[in-house]
Amino acid sequence: MLVLKFGGTSLGSAERIKNVAEIVNAHDNCVVVCSAMAGVTNALEQVNKLWEQDDHSGALDILGRIQYRFDVLCQELFYEQDIITANCREVKEMFAAVRELLQDPFSGYATGNVLSLGEWVTSRIINNYLCYTGKVSTYVNALELIRLNEQDEPDPFDLARRIKETGSFNEPGIYITQGYICMDSQGRVSNLKRGGSDYTATLLGAALHASLIEIWTDIDGLHNNDPRYVEDTMPIRELSFAEAAELAYFGAKILHPSCVWPAREQNIPIQLKNTMDPDARGTHIQSRQISGGIKAIAAKDNITVLRITSGRMFNAYGFLHKLFQVFDEFKIPVDVVTTSEVSVSVTIEDTTALAGLVLQLQSLGRVSVETNRSIVCVVGNIQEHLAEVIQAVKPFSVDMVSLGASSNNITLVVPHGQKVEVLQALHNLVNNNNVNRQESWIQLQA
Ligand code: ASP
Ligand code: MG
Repeated sequence: MLVLKFGGTSLGSAERIKNVAEIVNAHDNCVVVCSAMAGVTNALEQVNKLWEQDDHSGALDILGRIQYRFDVLCQELFYEQDIITANCREVKEMFAAVRELLQDPFSGYATGNVLSLGEWVTSRIINNYLCYTGKVSTYVNALELIRLNEQDEPDPFDLARRIKETGSFNEPGIYITQGYICMDSQGRVSNLKRGGSDYTATLLGAALHASLIEIWTDIDGLHNNDPRYVEDTMPIRELSFAEAAELAYFGAKILHPSCVWPAREQNIPIQLKNTMDPDARGTHIQSRQISGGIKAIAAKDNITVLRITSGRMFNAYGFLHKLFQVFDEFKIPVDVVTTSEVSVSVTIEDTTALAGLVLQLQSLGRVSVETNRSIVCVVGNIQEHLAEVIQAVKPFSVDMVSLGASSNNITLVVPHGQKVEVLQALHNLVNNNNVNRQESWIQLQA
């Protein structure tokens, strides 16, 4: 069994969906995980925002425009008028159900249903289109399978149990399902956070012991630097699960930050592929650490650094415990941590409860807050290249440095304004590294 996940841009138009259908049609036994058509989830977030601000007509107006996009899609995908009409009717029913829920004063919770519409409708149209092209496919409701636990995390055991109980995927065949959407622990429609379709794909892949999880996007794999800021980035051919997880977590937009672990636990390789160029090799992610200098750099913005200074840190045991208890209380994840004799520095992303958090931390020591920082993550054989990385970032004001325990990554915290220059400096280092490697290889061959 194979899992194929298609992202929003790969499903962004009738033309793209026809491409996807060709890719799927080459298989007989796979689960197809669909994102929402490009731009739809952004627009749905806007609907929720306007609705919360009591701009109901604004919200309904956007909803109407999204529905219209799907109508146009149906007209472009199918030829016969009766089939177009039947598909548009299905779209209409799905939108009507959500509109009704929004307007029901007793429903109390429609946010999740609104956000789920993109994946619902897109996956349904794709299923209809595949059947239309003569492929027999089965539509699977992801809401029956993926449910979050009390900590708002998906639970692989629960998923495996539900797959068994519902008998989904029992027979070999083509299955179409929705990425991103799930139930929360109270049975309401929820999701795996933005970009969550990747996570659905790896969770299903792990539960079904798939032979491979293919993540199809519009770029040929994970690049060795952020192509939005640095020119001449290159796709990376091979990454270990650990390296990919670091890059995804620290900013590589192509993968959901948490999606690697389910595949890693079951040792199921992930292949990143490009729908625009299906023959391109893309990136292969698997368990082995393949050496190869510094492999890639990614960056994440909107980082806040908190420094807690206490004269009595090291000799007073329990200090770190008390410190992290405060973050636990506020349910705020900490990303990077560094310690010294007198202070601890941590980075956080979520600043919604910053004032309360700082107040509480002040009971442990003096607290300073530095906002608008970026985390830059360098992945590869760091042990061998540590000195060069430090040398490359020497001109910049680095706030924190942390070497990962597995020494396959180093994270640096820098002011956001210097991020692009730091990315460029490290990119030059990667390029020189590769040139050197190629030269020594040529020498070896000679
Ligand atoms: N449609 C969702 C989003 O745009 C999930 C995904 O595409 O993975 O974030
Ligand atoms: Mg994505």
